[in-house]
Amino acid sequence: MKKLLFLLDTDPYPSVFDTVVAYDGGADRVAGYANVTADNVGALVDGTIFTRGGKDKQNTAIFVGGGDITKGEALFAAVKKKFFGPFRVSAMLDSNGSNTTAAAGVALLAKAGKLKGKKAVVLAGTGPVGMRAAAFFGQEGAEVAITSRAQTRADNAAKAIESRFGVKVKPIEAKDDAARAKAVKDADIVFAAGAIGVQLLKTQDWQSNANIALLADVNAQPPLGIEGVEATDKGKDRHGKTAFGALGIGGLKLKLHRGCIGQLFESSEGVLDAEEIYKLAKGMA
Ligand code: NAP
Repeated sequence: MKKLLFLLDTDPYPSVFDTVVAYDGGADRVAGYANVTADNVGALVDGTIFTRGGKDKQNTAIFVGGGDITKGEALFAAVKKKFFGPFRVSAMLDSNGSNTTAAAGVALLAKAGKLKGKKAVVLAGTGPVGMRAAAFFGQEGAEVAITSRAQTRADNAAKAIESRFGVKVKPIEAKDDAARAKAVKDADIVFAAGAIGVQLLKTQDWQSNANIALLADVNAQPPLGIEGVEATDKGKDRHGKTAFGALGIGGLKLKLHRGCIGQLFESSEGVLDAEEIYKLAKGMA
């Protein structure tokens, strides 16, 4: 029986990245649907839960993706709401790679040093990856802050993280390099989660900071998020700090993403969201 993955995307087209990883993770056929919302997903879920019976059902699974984590969370909730009794299939949420990327990054940092009781600052922490990273730091017992160029965006992201994870996050407005340098002054950990090709921190603003012990950057396209941290860094010593770059984190992210897809086809009851994916990442890191 063929393993079918239904990729339900909140964006105007289904993600090519998620399609490729779905095949690499073990799906035999991936069917991508665009512009899927909590309101129009019903019939798509029906098609997955009413077609195969018993153990055969585990060969059908759902992946929720897209660029907007708020829309993704609403869609994922609507998918799960359709399930009842044995009429369910395994499902995973990973809008913009948020769960897998943040989980891989924070799990590598947790292996490299202590997070509990430490101050973690997620630069540009208002996107899908940054919001998940902030939540994972909080769940590890770190004191977390996120920055944004706009106070209202930082406030909204902090509220969303607290409401979903019960984690308190300090929202900081940091419009420019000087403000971001100030935001990381007392930090033990800096996690750069900015948009692709955006530099957030200059070398001079972290290299002689005695507090900072761990640095991570998930932006793989130059200019990189943290000047002086290379994309390939994976636990590299840089000025006495342990550094991870986007490709150093990306290897585990891809392994984790593929592993999650494989796991979807092991039962019809799997739910892979932040908590489950972070647990898997820690096991793999
Ligand atoms: P995103 O939503 O595109 O951007 C994150 C935040 O960056 C935005 O909310 C925005 O915050 C800030 N930003 C945008 N333009 C900026 C600018 N010119 N100056 C300063 N800040 C700016 O990002 P994402 O989807 O969460 O992804 C985060 C990063 O992870 C991206 O670089 C992405 O490419 C990368 N990624 C890496 C992997 C991997 O395996 N390494 C996998 C997936 C994603 P404000 O508007 O609030 O300031």
